[in-house]
Amino acid sequence: MQVTAIREAECPQCGNRTSIPVPVRSDDRTSARLGTRFGERRSVTCSNGHSYWVSL
Ligand SMILES: [Zn+2]
Repeated sequence: MQVTAIREAECPQCGNRTSIPVPVRSDDRTSARLGTRFGERRSVTCSNGHSYWVSL
């Protein structure tokens, strides 16, 4: 079963915060882990149209 966590990113140009859904693996019984590898990045576009990369 896949769960989605929400992270917030702040635009470096205007400071607007954008919510990013991040997949979380729940197959680990002790703790949920982010479903992304360390260092993975995602492209985000803020509400003012600025595109930037966010490290997950
Ligand atoms: Zn922006």
